[in-house]
Amino acid sequence: MSKNAVLVINCGSSSLKFSLIKPETSELIVSGIAERLLTKDAFIKTKYNGVKDQQSLSGNFDHEAALEKIVEFLLENKLDKDLVGVGHRIVHGGEAYSQPTLVTEEVKEGIENLAKLAPLHNLVNLTGILASEKAFADLPQVTVYDTAFHQTMPEKAYLTGLPYHFYKDHGVRNYGMHGTSHYFVTKQAAEMLGKPYEESSFISAHLGNGCSITAVENGRSVDTSMGLTPLAGVVMGTRSGDIDPGIIFHLVDKLGYSVDDVNRILNKESGLLGISGMSNDCRTIEDAVVNDNDERANLTMDIFCYRIAKTIASYTAALTHLDGIIFTGGIGENSNLVRERVGKSLKLLGVEIDPERNLAARFGNSGKISTDSSHNCWVIPTNEEQVIAEQTFALIQQEK
Ligand code: ADP
Repeated sequence: MSKNAVLVINCGSSSLKFSLIKPETSELIVSGIAERLLTKDAFIKTKYNGVKDQQSLSGNFDHEAALEKIVEFLLENKLDKDLVGVGHRIVHGGEAYSQPTLVTEEVKEGIENLAKLAPLHNLVNLTGILASEKAFADLPQVTVYDTAFHQTMPEKAYLTGLPYHFYKDHGVRNYGMHGTSHYFVTKQAAEMLGKPYEESSFISAHLGNGCSITAVENGRSVDTSMGLTPLAGVVMGTRSGDIDPGIIFHLVDKLGYSVDDVNRILNKESGLLGISGMSNDCRTIEDAVVNDNDERANLTMDIFCYRIAKTIASYTAALTHLDGIIFTGGIGENSNLVRERVGKSLKLLGVEIDPERNLAARFGNSGKISTDSSHNCWVIPTNEEQVIAEQTFALIQQEK
């Protein structure tokens, strides 16, 4: 039998998530995460055959050492024999990478150069590639970019109001993120409707720690809420999302904050955390609303949901027809409160959330959450790993 499994790697600054997937059957064979890398508390969790395991990784484990541990695990369980290649999630592909791409020296340089647009992500993504090349020297390595799906956006959507030369000379434009997630859930929705993807239009709301909303017209992203960086758009766990750019000058010139301070405040201290003064975790805020009737938590939820609804409504300007609205990501898949409040603000758009369906669609249960007379609204769990595995597999087959 031919080899048919792909190892998907998603490197964060102190973590390395991995999954072994058979893309043709969507079978998830192993999943796991190495966390707190580069600290004395590093550990690795795996789930294989329904069995969960956790081991500590003493001795300042880095990404390379974590990958060696994963190789060991695959060898021990004889899972390496089916492996056809490794797929890497890369956050920023700029304009150069709009398709999955085989890793070459030039591609690695390209990812490194793009680190100026995503300093927190691209360099650590590259670390994952380098470690994987060492661990799996004989296997093809494929990169799949978060920005790629949004490369179909028209100029009017991706250009900003800045002087044009900032785009021409420095690539300053909106790129958008979460592309593989928006692609996956909109494709699933088209399948559910029994409509060709190329004829289907949706608005998808990926609501996790980072949040982005995307308008997909006839299977192509035509607008999205994140921009040059993942700071733009709606309010997120710790990120402010869009604010008046004049606020930045006010903070620096009038209130005495440094540029580094402002960067930290906007990225790490704002959003759900900053408004509530409580937590960046939607569950904590929701709990305070529902169980403690906490005013600030309630306000935080209101701001969060209103911004999401406002962005969804604005995308009626980007679309010529709408087959439905999709909620995904940790919050989108689980928070009936967020979906209910977003839905309420979209009444004029013909959206009505069905309370029972909405309550039922949580904790892995998906499906339609709108009433039968409403625009379609669904909860669809995302699966970025599956997309990365499929695209990696397809590219490797094509190159054979
Ligand atoms: P990431 O963007 O890091 O992948 P996730 O998609 O896992 O994040 O989403 C994390 C968010 O999902 C957190 O804000 C968390 O509170 C929220 N979340 C997870 N489960 C629930 C739940 N049952 N109810 C409300 N929010 C939830």
